[in-house]
Amino acid sequence: MKFDWVIVGAGFSGCVLAERIASQLGQRVLLIERRDHIGGNAYDYYNEHGILVHKYGPHIFHTKSKRVWDYLSQFTEWRHYFHHVLGVIEGKKVPIPFNINSLYALFPPRYAERLEEKLLENFGFGVKVPILKLRESANGELEFLANYIYENVFLRYTTKQWNLKPEELDRGVTGRVPVYISRDNRYFQDPYQAMPKHGYTEMFRRMLSHSNIKVLLNADYREVINDIKFDRMVYTGPVDTFFDYMHGELPYRSLRFHFETLDQEHYQEVGTVNYPNEYDITRITEQKYLSGQTSPKTTLVMEYPQAYVPGVNDPYYPIPREDNRERYDLYLKEAQRLNGSVIFVGRLAEYKYYDMDQAALRALGVFEKEIAQ
Ligand code: FAD
Ligand code: UDP
Repeated sequence: MKFDWVIVGAGFSGCVLAERIASQLGQRVLLIERRDHIGGNAYDYYNEHGILVHKYGPHIFHTKSKRVWDYLSQFTEWRHYFHHVLGVIEGKKVPIPFNINSLYALFPPRYAERLEEKLLENFGFGVKVPILKLRESANGELEFLANYIYENVFLRYTTKQWNLKPEELDRGVTGRVPVYISRDNRYFQDPYQAMPKHGYTEMFRRMLSHSNIKVLLNADYREVINDIKFDRMVYTGPVDTFFDYMHGELPYRSLRFHFETLDQEHYQEVGTVNYPNEYDITRITEQKYLSGQTSPKTTLVMEYPQAYVPGVNDPYYPIPREDNRERYDLYLKEAQRLNGSVIFVGRLAEYKYYDMDQAALRALGVFEKEIAQ
C-alpha cells in the first residue's frame, strides 16, 4: 500500500499533522513511532493505583492561543486547572514565580514593604521582570533583592537543570519564570489553562482515530522506511540524528524520573514544589493535583536532571544558546536543500524549547502554509 505521507514521531507535532492531513486533505498517513505508545513526551497513563501519571514529567496545558484551544477542544473535554508552584527558599515554601507574596514570606514586614514600594516605583504593578533584567537595572535595595532572588531561586536550580549558569543560556530560559510584581500566585497567566479531562493520551487517540491514519509503534523509521512507499515525509525527531550528525551532535538535556506512591491522601500543598537549593532533584510534582482525582494514595514524580547520551536516555530539552543555534542553522540549511520532500517540525526537529501549545500552533501553521496549499 502506498501512503501520501510518512510522519515520524507521534507527539504533539506528529499527531496534529496526521489529523489535519487525514481529515482536511483526505490523504493517507503512516505515523511511525519508536516508542510503544502515542503522545510523545506528553504521554500519560493510569498507574497500578489508578492515578493518572505523566511518564515523561509533568505536563500542564496553558495557552494564549484561541486557535490552539479551539482546535484541541475538538478532541478533548477539559478540567480547568491553575497550576501553583512553591519553591523551598531558606526552609520556607514561597510562591514561584517569585512575587510580592514571596517577598512578604521571606523578609520582615517593614523591609518587605520597602522592597515592594521600590519594585512598584521602578517597574509598576502587574509587570513581569526576568531575573537577568532585574539584576541589570537594579540598584541599592533592589540590587540586594535581585541578587537574593538570583542566588536563591535561579542559580542552583539552573545549574542542576542545565549544567549551566542562567547567563550562559538564552535569556528567555529564566525569562519563562520572571519575577512577577503581583499577588497572583499562579504559575501561568494565560487565558486558557486546563488539563485534558481524560488525559493527553486519550486526546491523541481521538485525533488519530481516522480511517486515513495508520499508526506503527515500536518502530524506528530508519529500520522500516525502505519497505514503505510514500510521497512526502514529516519528521519530528532530533534533526542531527536525521542527518547522521554530519555537522556534529546538537546538545540536549535529559532527565531521570523517579515515581513514588504513598499511602496518604496528599504529600504537598500544591501541584509542584521546586527545590532550587537542596537535593539533586529540581522539583517534585504530585500528580493528583493535575488530574483532580481523589484517592487514599498519591503518586509523586521527582526530576533528576542528567546529561543526554544518545542511545542511553531521551533528549528532552534543546539547550538554547547561540553556539547551539549556529550548529542548528547548519542542519536547517540541509533541511532546506530537501525542497519540502521532508518537513521538519517540533521541539527536536527545530531545536526549539516549545511548550505543547507552541508545538501545536507550529504544526497547524505548517499544515496551512506548507502542506495544504
Ligand atoms: P515529542 O513529544 O518529543 O515527540 C517526538 C516523537 O518522535 C517522540 O515520541 C519520539 O519517540 C519520536 N521519534 C524520535 N525519533 C524517532 C525515530 N527515529 N523513529 C520513530 N519515532 C521517533 N509543555 C507544556 O506546554 N507544558 C508543560 O508543563 C510541559 N512540561 C514538560 C516537562 C518535561 C519534563 C518536558 C521534557 C517537556 C515538557 N513540555 C511541556 C514540552 C512538551 O513536552 C513539548 O512541547 C511537546 O512534547 C513537543 O511535541 P513534539 O511532537 O514536537 O515532540
Ligand atoms: N528556574 C529556576 N528556578 C525555579 C524555576 C525555574 O531557576 O524555581 C529556571 C530554570 O533555569 C528552568 C527555567 O527557569 O529551567 C524554566 O523553568 P520552567 O518551569 O518553565 O521549566 P520546564 O517546566 O520547561 O522544565
